[in-house]
Amino acid sequence: MSKKLQAIRGMHDVLPDKSPVWQRLEKAMFEVCQQYGYSEIRMPLVESTDLFCRSIGEVTDIVEKEMYTFEDRNGDSLSLRPEGTASCVRAGLEHGLFYNQTQRLWYQGPMFRHERPQKGRYRQFHQIGIECFGMAGAEIEAEIILMSYRLWKKLGLSAELTLEINSLGTSDERLRYKEVLVEFFNQHIDQLDDDSKRRLTSNPLRILDSKNPAMQGLIESAPQLINSIGDESRLHFEKLQRYLTDAGVSFVHNPRLVRGLDYYSHTVFEWVTSSLGAQGTVCAGGRYDGLIEQLGGKQTPAVGLAMGVERLVLLLEQHELPLKTPLAYIVHQGAAGEAYSLQLAEKLRDQLPQEGIVLHCGNASLKSQFKKADKTGAKFAIIVGEQEIEQNQVAIKFLRERKEQLQLPQDKLISFLKNNP
Ligand code: ATP
Ligand code: MG
Repeated sequence: MSKKLQAIRGMHDVLPDKSPVWQRLEKAMFEVCQQYGYSEIRMPLVESTDLFCRSIGEVTDIVEKEMYTFEDRNGDSLSLRPEGTASCVRAGLEHGLFYNQTQRLWYQGPMFRHERPQKGRYRQFHQIGIECFGMAGAEIEAEIILMSYRLWKKLGLSAELTLEINSLGTSDERLRYKEVLVEFFNQHIDQLDDDSKRRLTSNPLRILDSKNPAMQGLIESAPQLINSIGDESRLHFEKLQRYLTDAGVSFVHNPRLVRGLDYYSHTVFEWVTSSLGAQGTVCAGGRYDGLIEQLGGKQTPAVGLAMGVERLVLLLEQHELPLKTPLAYIVHQGAAGEAYSLQLAEKLRDQLPQEGIVLHCGNASLKSQFKKADKTGAKFAIIVGEQEIEQNQVAIKFLRERKEQLQLPQDKLISFLKNNP
């Protein structure tokens, strides 16, 4: 017997009963991006592996163990994109988007990471991301945080999410801090897990990002980066805090927030919820002024964020939402009724572009057509039989109200539907 075909573990279909929640999120984000003057960019799903190694960092969870990497038929090493920032910077460099100009960009789409699948953590997941280039101040950081905040308000999620922020300072400041950190962890080397021992020499800051519960006590007592940063970085961080406070956004300073990617400097932030268990971060971002130069471009300030769509969908599903149902379902009888209904449906869609008009397709008794009509949630069934065609009429059956069936002249149908949406 042949093996049953199944989706790949950790990669999910979004079935028709779930897609309205996705659409609601995507539509709201699209509107916010328009309000702030952001343009969409679409990048390929596959890039050269080298791009991610050079940007995200060799010693990160993503590059060390999560990438879908393969050789193509030319023998080149390619990877499915694990995130969008690296691709966006590659695209910007390739097409000259960074020369003497500022850019405000957004994107959305699937990302791929070979992680252990669990609630809120998948192998194909989706992000909506924002990336801004050419702006060095704290105001652009405040702007993208305010965009996300506006989105939460639009979606009714603001009460569930907390903003955590931190400053990573400049790369020189982080270098100094690394020495302090290595000294501290060396004094407690017996308490480090294997991953952290390895990272102590390769990338000690990553230890702070460890998800191992047994390590949390030690991490809590480690020296804090914020005490190693200089006046300029501190001022920048204070400015951001003032902008957020003035805009009415509450935040918590989390001195251990370092993020899982190597390219960040100065501001980093996360929006977290307590209602999704361990997968509580729904949106994360920060400043990455060094990345463009690191990938071969001219020094260009940059900030960005990425939202985890599945995690936001899980939150949205906890709230009941009225679904948009079709306005009418057209039921018909006989060959003439079928042909006539197809034309009628088109005419109605021309006149009522915002409404759903569903045409019954396939042979079925009137009774079973009404059953189907009812199942779609439509408000009316429009009935087209031989008698109706002869008399240039339609019959209207109310599917959600106890009302007598109506007989209407065809030319009154549009105004009837317009007045009963
Ligand atoms: P985590 O600490 O949860 O692994 P991360 O630091 O690896 O997250 P980022 O690379 O910053 O995540 O991605 C931004 C957002 O994308 C995350 O905050 C999360 O909402 C979402 N995300 C990341 N990895 C996954 C995944 N495997 N499945 C679903 N969503 C994810
Ligand atoms: Mg991760």
